Amino acid sequence: MSASIFSRIIDGEIPSDFIYEDEHCIAIHDINPQAPVHALVIPRKPIRMLVDAQPEDQALLGHLMLVANKVALELGVGEGFRLVVNNGESVGMTIYHLHLHIMGGRTYAEQSMG
Ligand code: 5GP
Repeated sequence: MSASIFSRIIDGEIPSDFIYEDEHCIAIHDINPQAPVHALVIPRKPIRMLVDAQPEDQALLGHLMLVANKVALELGVGEGFRLVVNNGESVGMTIYHLHLHIMGGRTYAEQSMG
């Protein structure tokens, strides 16, 4: 299977500004934002999607959420943001490399209106 676009970003093949990086994950701005603040937290380990995560990934999954907190604070939406993890084509997943969407900057009512 070919490397996902996210693996290519992580490996530096596709230049991208990282909002955050550490040995386990990176965070970048979404190229097609669906909210005023829309960032992605992506593990370096290419887990295909959440349902493929294994017990040994438990610490990594927790780490991704703590990094999402940091990134949300850094981007000024620490008081109100959503985390979204798409799992599968039927819910609109397009890149098969696990990632957390951080979305903020709009009120819940505005978000519900799409
Ligand atoms: P999914 O639908 O798979 O949960 O989300 C994939 C997300 O990746 C989409 O929101 C899409 O806009 C974003 N995306 C796709 N290609 C790129 C890219 O090359 N760079 C960045 N920064 N985001 C991307």
